Amino acid sequence: MIYLEVPKHLRQLANQAHQVAKHVFRPISRKYDRAEHDYPKELDLLAALMDGLNAGSGQKGARIDSLQRDEVSNDGVRNGANMSTCLALTELCWGDIGLALSIPRQGLGNAAITAVADPEQRKRFEGVWAAMAITEPGAGSDSANIRTTARLDGDEWVLNGEKIYVTAGSRADSVVVWATLDRNLGRSAIKSFVVPHGTPGMEVVRLDKKMGIRASDTASITLTDCRIPKDNLLGTAEIDTKAGFGGVMQTFDNTRPIVAGMAVGVARAALEHTQELLRGEGIKVRYTGSFFSKTAAEAELIRMEADWEAGRLLMLKAAWMADNGIPNSTEASMSKAKAARVANQITLRCVELCGTLGYSEADLLEKWARDSKILDIFEGTQQIQLLIIARRLLGKRSSELR
Ligand SMILES: Cc1cc2nc3c(=O)[nH]c(=O)nc-3n(C[C@H](O)[C@H](O)[C@H](O)COP(=O)(O)OP(=O)(O)OC[C@H]3O[C@@H](n4cnc5c(N)ncnc54)[C@H](O)[C@@H]3O)c2cc1C
Repeated sequence: MIYLEVPKHLRQLANQAHQVAKHVFRPISRKYDRAEHDYPKELDLLAALMDGLNAGSGQKGARIDSLQRDEVSNDGVRNGANMSTCLALTELCWGDIGLALSIPRQGLGNAAITAVADPEQRKRFEGVWAAMAITEPGAGSDSANIRTTARLDGDEWVLNGEKIYVTAGSRADSVVVWATLDRNLGRSAIKSFVVPHGTPGMEVVRLDKKMGIRASDTASITLTDCRIPKDNLLGTAEIDTKAGFGGVMQTFDNTRPIVAGMAVGVARAALEHTQELLRGEGIKVRYTGSFFSKTAAEAELIRMEADWEAGRLLMLKAAWMADNGIPNSTEASMSKAKAARVANQITLRCVELCGTLGYSEADLLEKWARDSKILDIFEGTQQIQLLIIARRLLGKRSSELR
């Protein structure tokens, strides 16, 4: 039997995150949508609160996931950091995706550190707020094509290159930068490096203006003879051409289910709010009775809810597999592809169903439709996820199916 309830020890975390979304994020959501690039100072209080909770629980660092210890059931099934992060982000993004991406010390680079760092590095970088910089002017979906270089000089790596679209790139303490040790050796030579802000040679040169998630800063960063300690390379410097992209790509096994969770959160916000608005007009969804007796609006909402549930279940499965050490690359891509696509469709359809109110800035529906689009772009676009899934199902290499 499939048992799909949220694990008991994580219910409190999900509830806490929901309260933050409701009482902290929603009230300031429109304010920071309009004031793009202003720092949401209300989040400092939230971060301090989380630090306090962690200190109280005897744990260092302030990741939402670290507020909860892993729970291992009698049969050895574990629900740990991946599941708790997904559930927390789902709730936070029910409130506001841009603000969720701006919470201090909860960056995508933190997930990279968790995925690739060795135990000593994990300890050293605990509590650091890390952004993740993969994309370059000449390398987006084709991340194997990155040109930023890392050269070893004595006890230091020297980094040179340009990174664009770095979420939290100006606000985070550090940036996890993907760079190649040797372009001739292809994707296996790509490694990730933790570069603290303030390191000479790393500069934020631009903040982008965007369609959605305006509360989140998106930075362009240059690296010019930027020197960092040798042991800031995450994992091993060894280039294993047989292992391919393995090392750094593990990051996505952790981050894609999180993005799926974000999509599940914003889509649920739109569905719930649309139902609320329709109820105000006397339109109530009847879940029982013949499908053929339903109104068009009811049938549409039920269909969207079924799609939403499919995205949520895929997200839970991918996160659960990650927590239990089961290879989940295919499922991570499936969860992101389904949940993000569904979130795009649901948020936009809810705007349509609610007509002029849906399109108006007097309501948050139009904002959720704009905000949700990024979830189908970053951490690998919809098309790239489908490509990855197809390669894995068909047993093809990236050179065979592109
Ligand atoms: C707001 C925002 C925040 C971001 N945050 C980060 C971040 O924190 N860190 C980071 O490193 N990057 C970040 N990105 C960058 C993001 O990951 C890239 O935009 C994304 O990977 C796509 O790359 P691209 O924009 O170069 O598009 P391209 O790779 O040029 O793709 C353009 C289109 O072609 C499609 N396409 C490409 N190749 C194929 C193929 N083989 N088959 C079929 N279709 C294909 C794509 O799906 C897409 O629709 C962010 C982007 C935005 C907009």
